Amino acid sequence: MDARGETKGRPLDEAVIERFREIVGPANALSEPGMIAPYMHEPRDLFAADGRLVLRPADVGQVSAVLRLASETRTPIVPQGGNTGLVGGQMPRGPGEVVLSLSRLDRIREVDPVGRTMTVEAGAVLQNVHEAADEAGLFYPLSLGSQGSCQIGGNLASNAGGTGVLAYGNSRDLCLGIEAVLPSGEVLNGLRRLKKDNRGYDWRHLLIGSEGTLGVITAAVLKLFPKPAGREVAFVGLRSPDKAIALLRRAEGLAGGQLTAFELMARIGMEFTLRHTQGARDPMGEPHGWYVLLEISSQRSGEDARETMERVLSEAFEAGEIEDAAIAQSGADAEAFWRMREAMSWAQKPEGGSIKHDVAVPVAEVPRFLREAGAAVTAAMPGVRIVAFGHLGDGNIHYNLTQPVGMDSAVFLDRWHEMNAIVHAVVAGLSGSFSAEHGIGQLKREELARTKEPAEMALMRAIKATVDPYSILNPGKVL
Ligand code: FAD
Repeated sequence: MDARGETKGRPLDEAVIERFREIVGPANALSEPGMIAPYMHEPRDLFAADGRLVLRPADVGQVSAVLRLASETRTPIVPQGGNTGLVGGQMPRGPGEVVLSLSRLDRIREVDPVGRTMTVEAGAVLQNVHEAADEAGLFYPLSLGSQGSCQIGGNLASNAGGTGVLAYGNSRDLCLGIEAVLPSGEVLNGLRRLKKDNRGYDWRHLLIGSEGTLGVITAAVLKLFPKPAGREVAFVGLRSPDKAIALLRRAEGLAGGQLTAFELMARIGMEFTLRHTQGARDPMGEPHGWYVLLEISSQRSGEDARETMERVLSEAFEAGEIEDAAIAQSGADAEAFWRMREAMSWAQKPEGGSIKHDVAVPVAEVPRFLREAGAAVTAAMPGVRIVAFGHLGDGNIHYNLTQPVGMDSAVFLDRWHEMNAIVHAVVAGLSGSFSAEHGIGQLKREELARTKEPAEMALMRAIKATVDPYSILNPGKVL
């Protein structure tokens, strides 16, 4: 990996550290190795971070003061939320970079049940936002495997997607307003609850998805939704991705906006999950080549959701699209089905090295992508185990390659770039994206520069230079 073990930046000056310490208070300027260790490891262990200072501001005023001082002293600042990002965006690149943790800004400031909005600080954990919405009789639909740790600021900075995008859109679509601090320390207050506001450029959308390179998000107004009255979850076994596309079209036709999840999984992912997840149980009697987790929700009633689910499945069965299906008979069943899907991310680890891809192609092209990429990676590395799963309804597949049985992990991982190039060439041939929802961070920076249109890169660089002239905010990420 290009960033593994790299150290960037001059060591921090003791006098500058002291000034940062004065802003956040000594208890929240962490430098003792044991205290900062959790901020220096990311989920995939791809980036070795050797930062020396973590600042934990209490409010937007302190964030502003930190950034003003950072601009004055040209100190690189790395915003960090729940530290669940998968591309190294939240990791310092060397001892001279300071982690700015948003964890203490975790208040839910207001819930507006009429306009259905929640005003929340950036450090609020997604799970807590779900619970607060639930208490108000409402629902926030962003759903990620990392929701117990990731934060709203991180979700917005990475424009996170997840399993609810099909019906509700990604983080960008779920946000009406943000409050953010620019690298200069200036505070932008855009905490508006308006659905319509066409007064000039909408800078909110510039910051969403900018991965902490243009501003630090300190609070946001989120859109809430009425809670569905009924929800049905089914696990379906089928022969091929083409059959899954046929099922998707049928489910969309019959359920429309009621289709709230459509997740595809290859058999090998199920096998890994069953082998390595405590309590995991195969919902189907017989093994199938592919699986779909299907969720249908209804605003009217549980019976309505059940009727629609049964109709989708019986028609699909008659049309030969599916081989078998199990409908969850209880909330516990539904949770167990979802756990199978979510555990798939972690279940690959015990099988050895894994080379990851987070790609998107037009929905209709997913089967072709899987065929062509499968042939290409197998030709390059016989025995490689392809763990493909993800959000078929969005055309977004996590196309992960697990090392062949018996291969040395280091030898396998040394071929990361080669395998990426093979998969991404297939994606490019289908006019797709090599980064659907995880972002660019450090991991995919070079590929972005190589493959994005020069005019688009030039515009991005011009924006960065204008907003952050001293490049103090998350340097070396994205651009
Ligand atoms: P961090 O990891 O801390 O940071 C991510 C990026 O945002 C960094 O560039 C950081 O500098 C920046 N940032 C963080 N907070 C702020 C802020 N307040 N202001 C400005 N910049 C900030 N992602 C998906 O999209 N879909 C999924 O389905 C999904 N599933 C996942 C499952 C697992 C098990 C794991 C580990 C991760 C998954 N992710 C997924 C990736 C990750 O959880 C998301 O990208 C999440 O939104 C990151 O939030 P965070 O708070 O952890 O951000």
